[in-house]
Amino acid sequence: MVDAHAHLEDPRLTDDLDAVIARAHAAGVIAIVTAGGDLESSARAVRLAETYPAVYAAVGYHPHEASRFQPGGLDQLRAWCAHPKVVAVGEIGLDFYYDRSPREVQRRVLEAHLGLASEVGLPVVVHCREAGAALLEVLRAWSAPTPFPGPSPEQGGEAAALPSGAGPARRGMIHCFSGDADLACRFLAVGMDISLAGPVTFTNARELQEVARAVPLDALLVETDSPYLAPHPHRGQRNEPALVAVTARRVAELRGMDFPALAQATSANAARLFGLPLPVP
Ligand SMILES: [Zn+2]
Ligand SMILES: [Zn+2]
Repeated sequence: MVDAHAHLEDPRLTDDLDAVIARAHAAGVIAIVTAGGDLESSARAVRLAETYPAVYAAVGYHPHEASRFQPGGLDQLRAWCAHPKVVAVGEIGLDFYYDRSPREVQRRVLEAHLGLASEVGLPVVVHCREAGAALLEVLRAWSAPTPFPGPSPEQGGEAAALPSGAGPARRGMIHCFSGDADLACRFLAVGMDISLAGPVTFTNARELQEVARAVPLDALLVETDSPYLAPHPHRGQRNEPALVAVTARRVAELRGMDFPALAQATSANAARLFGLPLPVP
């Protein structure tokens, strides 16, 4: 399995991280994508990716931290994106539930990160809380193919067409997806994969259970968002990557699939999205 989203650099996990990683391996986790939320935590994420072979990093500003974002920060992020173990720009997004940064600022910072992701050709790891419509609007604009800047028909040129195979794939994942199956489908339509975390295992999570059944198998990921959101029956405890197996088992059960098949498919999806060098069949 791949834990597609975690925060190993969180102080709640750093103290016994060797043991946390060992338990993840014992549970069958072959890769973990750990995400920063500002420059400091992104630096720690890159360092962990350098330390542990199975750990990969995403770098960026979380919407909570958007008001601390300085345009110069983008240069540091760009430099990290060239690192072989930095596989995504994130965690970025919109959070209109906590509103810890003004919404307009969140949106501008998100757009700056999306621009960086297309520039460096990396996928994005996106956080969305109570901001589905606004996020869809931004992602739709980002993922729309840019017309080829050739001569216009009025100037006697060919109609605008996309150069074949040009431009980086604008892809990403909505991490810890919350919302209904309809919203999930709208994100799929703008090139996002859907990643499910612990809440899909909660007994009252009817909407998310529906999402787990509805998302096509080739666009589905699983994650822990460690140290947050431990799956049932560990709810309320510290979460860690080994517990992605609990979530994956529940998702397999909801889809009426064998667990190994679900684990293999979601790992292959993560390997494809992040370009992980995994021995995935
Ligand atoms: Zn998040
Ligand atoms: Zn997160």
